[in-house]
Amino acid sequence: MTDHKVLPLPPSLYADTAVPPATTPPLDSDRTASVAIIGGGFTGLSTALHLAEQGVEAVVLEAQQPGWGASGNNGGQLNPGLKFDPDTIEATFGPDLGGRMIAFAYDTPNVAHDIIRRHGIACEARQNGTLRAAYHSKSAAGVESTAQQCLRRGMPVEFLDRDTIQRMTGTDRYVAAMLDRRGGDVHPLSYARGLAQAAIKAGAAVHGQTPVLSVRRDSGRWHVQTPRATVHADKILIATNGFTDDLWPDLRRTIVPVFSAITATEPLPDAVARAIMPTRPVLYESGNITVYYRIDSGNRLLMGGRGPMRPIRDAAEISYLTRYAARLWPTLSGIRWTHAWNSQLAMTADHYPHVHEPGPGVLAYLGCNGRGVALASSMGRQLARRLIGGDSATIDLPITTPKTIALHALWPVAVKSVVVWGRLRDRLGL
Ligand SMILES: Cc1cc2nc3c(=O)[nH]c(=O)nc-3n(C[C@H](O)[C@H](O)[C@H](O)COP(=O)(O)OP(=O)(O)OC[C@H]3O[C@@H](n4cnc5c(N)ncnc54)[C@H](O)[C@@H]3O)c2cc1C
Repeated sequence: MTDHKVLPLPPSLYADTAVPPATTPPLDSDRTASVAIIGGGFTGLSTALHLAEQGVEAVVLEAQQPGWGASGNNGGQLNPGLKFDPDTIEATFGPDLGGRMIAFAYDTPNVAHDIIRRHGIACEARQNGTLRAAYHSKSAAGVESTAQQCLRRGMPVEFLDRDTIQRMTGTDRYVAAMLDRRGGDVHPLSYARGLAQAAIKAGAAVHGQTPVLSVRRDSGRWHVQTPRATVHADKILIATNGFTDDLWPDLRRTIVPVFSAITATEPLPDAVARAIMPTRPVLYESGNITVYYRIDSGNRLLMGGRGPMRPIRDAAEISYLTRYAARLWPTLSGIRWTHAWNSQLAMTADHYPHVHEPGPGVLAYLGCNGRGVALASSMGRQLARRLIGGDSATIDLPITTPKTIALHALWPVAVKSVVVWGRLRDRLGL
């Protein structure tokens, strides 16, 4: 038996307030399965759920516990769309695939809410809309153009002028915004745990503290080695995102793992919370460095952005965020920031999420680029269809050959300088 380091959850607000976890014991004896899924975040768990609903035997192998990675530690925002505007997506991928990508990506919050409703997942889910807010005239023009492109396609969005966005956020920071009514939020760790429970109930097996050490193909099957036992599977799904290691040659070098950090206040007095976001949408900024925030159902303000490229536990380590919050809402003075934590997401060089089929019966999905709550949940449904034997059009993203990123080892330095440069530009108002 190989030693495995059991890591605690990051010290998040979610770890203190989530629903109890499902029972997910380590795998301790050899078994067979149709599909072995490596990674127990939204991608792996949603795929397992959708496979099990089709009667396909799926086994999730998670190195820590379901939701331990980005899935249980994120901003909880269910945001529609991809990084790029609809027109850019269509110009890049053509009207057929591009059109499917747009329809898929903007519908992802609806799919996530549908999963939550169908399985009765208790995760504080709300659908009060996503605001993409601009604080420079330059980014306001970009937001307005996105809104026009969405409106042309019949989507339920609105372009908000300065007065309206100021009323919706209680700050005069923003000059414009787009409201997309499909967006919303969840308690992400409760959602991940609820997905694990739903997958188990539907017939999937979910094993925590079961790192996959190697995969090997022999006699037409995959042999997935864990510390105590082997899974013999027809197919495998690699769903390890920002924690991708060297399990599959070079996959790690197709993404850049980046930390994102969040800090949360104590529950705010009702009047303060109402003055900040009376209708409780979620918001992310369109700027050089993205800041995102929401007020949760316990009236806490959760504010996220870039931070140190190492684990953190104290709000003082991301004081730029608390200072920024105080600048937006001076009424926060005297409020305590009770939690601070971070986790790793996966960036790709082209800023699109990637689907690969790097070997026979192997599927990999990674690179949510900071938009994975709704996206990975919905992608799970499509990955399941493909694993069951659907053609490549069952996936509304291109299936591409993995491409390693040039000078990958230098990327952590590059990310750090982009963050520092972005903050400087924001400060200078560029
Ligand atoms: C701080 C933060 C804030 C974010 N905010 C938002 C947001 O508000 N909205 C949004 O849409 N997206 C957000 N994201 C992105 C989103 O959380 C991710 O895109 C999404 O959770 C990815 O899910 P996943 O299942 O692909 O990966 P993960 O949840 O990271 O899961 C991967 C899992 O694989 C496991 N693993 C790795 N290697 C192995 C192995 N060899 N064997 C077994 N298991 C293994 C890891 O333990 C991990 O649990 C945020 C991310 C972070 C970090």
